[in-house]
Amino acid sequence: MAILDRQRGCLIGLAVGDALGAAVEFKAPGCFPPVTTYRGGGPHGLDPGEWTDDTSMALALADSIAHAGWDLNDQARRYVAWWRKGKYSVNGRCFDIGITTSRALSKFQRSGDARSSGDPSERASGNGSIMRLAPVVIHFLDGFPDQPERLATHAAESSLPTHSSPQCLSACRYFALILAGLMHGLDRDEVLAADWHLLERLRMNEPLYHEIDIVAAGSFRQHQPPRIRGSGYVVRSLEAALWAFHDALDFREAVLDAVNLGDDADTTGAVCGQLAGAYWGQTGIPSEWRNGLARPDMIERALGGL
Ligand code: MG
Ligand code: MG
Repeated sequence: MAILDRQRGCLIGLAVGDALGAAVEFKAPGCFPPVTTYRGGGPHGLDPGEWTDDTSMALALADSIAHAGWDLNDQARRYVAWWRKGKYSVNGRCFDIGITTSRALSKFQRSGDARSSGDPSERASGNGSIMRLAPVVIHFLDGFPDQPERLATHAAESSLPTHSSPQCLSACRYFALILAGLMHGLDRDEVLAADWHLLERLRMNEPLYHEIDIVAAGSFRQHQPPRIRGSGYVVRSLEAALWAFHDALDFREAVLDAVNLGDDADTTGAVCGQLAGAYWGQTGIPSEWRNGLARPDMIERALGGL
């Protein structure tokens, strides 16, 4: 399978996972008929196949990379354009911004400095920067596997405009590395191994935040729900996506297991969809989900720019 197919799969997988989870966002696990395909409704009253903030922010980030190269202020300005004007939204309005993100973007509007606009405190450790990470890895994949530190640094920087806690930065570094490994065509078990040589190299360069390192060491293999949760906390969110992905037989099984955890289902789906799409490629995504995705033109434009 070509690298291009896996790069495309990563971003399309993000949007598919987001759209599948949107209908059951905020629902407790087990309290809804299991998701099997796109479904309308949910807290935002969306149509089947419509996606949410996870995809919108990823499209804004992709657009920034395509037009401005690497410029955190430009990234933040595009997030503001989504928040205030509905640009990059599936229906032209921003209907679901998270509190950490809106606070950070308000601060950016006052200061003009995206590098310092995210809240660095540990309690501001939502999953809002891993959910949109795909464009960074797609764009910087050419430096892989020779320069994993460069990729990890860009991933962590991409978090700063909205999420700058140590958990979030560390989650982005680790998540970028495994997405890159999968996109590069490495075996899933190799990339997810606790002692993968590139992970060891990342740790030597800068240790992972201890809770992220517990995930990287394989906590997602040892636990099951309800210990595994589709939580908005970045550590639990990453763990849940890896739990759903690591032993799934195909894209469908991985992403459905992720969104059926409920709670922050769209984002668990978006994180898992990036992993599953990077591994099985665009061609591994069921065609009814690829074809049923709302506003495919917006996703294609982002992919073209990257
Ligand atoms: Mg969302
Ligand atoms: Mg969410």
